Amino acid sequence: MIVEKGDELGEDFMGKTLAVGSKVMIPPLMPCGSCYYCVHYPGTANKCLTPVYYGRYLGFEKPPHLWGGWAEYVYVDLEMLPGTKIYKLPDDMSLRLGALSEPLTSCIRAFNRAKRAGGFNWNDTVVIQGSGPIGILAIAAAQEMGAGRVICVGAPEEPRLKLARRFGAEATVNIDEVKTSGERIARVREIVGGFGADLVMDCSGHPIAGPEGIEFLRDGGTYVEMGQFTDAGSINTNWHRICTKDLNVLGSWAFTANDLPLGVDMLYRTRDKYPWLEMQTIYPFTEKGITQAVADAMAMRTVKSTIVPFPELV
Ligand SMILES: [Zn+2]
Repeated sequence: MIVEKGDELGEDFMGKTLAVGSKVMIPPLMPCGSCYYCVHYPGTANKCLTPVYYGRYLGFEKPPHLWGGWAEYVYVDLEMLPGTKIYKLPDDMSLRLGALSEPLTSCIRAFNRAKRAGGFNWNDTVVIQGSGPIGILAIAAAQEMGAGRVICVGAPEEPRLKLARRFGAEATVNIDEVKTSGERIARVREIVGGFGADLVMDCSGHPIAGPEGIEFLRDGGTYVEMGQFTDAGSINTNWHRICTKDLNVLGSWAFTANDLPLGVDMLYRTRDKYPWLEMQTIYPFTEKGITQAVADAMAMRTVKSTIVPFPELV
């Protein structure tokens, strides 16, 4: 929420008027809008050569210090970082719901990536690997973007797979119970039936997901990797499987500036359709609260640990 602003800041990225009190979001990665990639390859401006980040490269020691998101306030410097992009949230959208717009946008962009490659069509059967925040959001995005059936492979049952089904997954496969890749492939193919899934999206971050997921697919299907934001290690498969199954294999990295409004809009439009807020476990903005939030997320006791500095505002 804007608490103070200069006159230079009059509108958000989409031209909506901003005022003190406006609810806004700022993505962690913002394409600069002027480098070679931004100008010549706008569809992959997510690979901007000089992106704007708050928090990651601006150290706390640099005045006025408030560059990071894990704080009560963020200082937004349009003069130093003209590529900064601010997105206004609808006035009646809670900040707590708005906090999901960035990860949801990553999912929307990943499905659009598949669409552009001809790999995601109306009524397709989609398998989501992973039941963390990205996996759960991908279940909603898949349905909103035209999937016919959605199946989720993940763990643990509580709270994650249970929530996956509440978000519309028709079936879930618990990797704590179905322990080997071979068994999971057989189980998913049994649920999906026919020739296999049309689209599989990895939101798990585990290297085993790729080799396993391509075997969920029908021949000619599409695999989207969007869960490996950090290098989790090599995968063990064979190009022959990708070739002989005639697969699309796509990577998707974050999103472009134009994708973000799609995330805000999807959240707003479907605010009563999915149990969005049940994804979040709220923690206070204290040393203890933050430590607990991270520990619970790491142990998968939460779906999305959410740290709230001002409970009265969410
Ligand atoms: Zn750029």
